[in-house]
Amino acid sequence: MLIYLLWFIFFAIIIFFGGVFMWTLKRGPVESESDGADLEEWTCPSCSFQVQMGMECIYCGEKKPAV
Ligand SMILES: [Zn+2]
Repeated sequence: MLIYLLWFIFFAIIIFFGGVFMWTLKRGPVESESDGADLEEWTCPSCSFQVQMGMECIYCGEKKPAV
């Protein structure tokens, strides 16, 4: 009967680490989204040009405002 208890504990540990692993995988894309912030479209405050990507306006060289 003790062997069943050991198997139960073994599977509980496997499921626990599996859950932590899945949780880490779920967090991954969220972090990469914040890294890809320079791919977001923004409007230049100086010339109102719609900058498709990058941290600098290609028309007047204005830096992307930190919002
Ligand atoms: Zn500009």
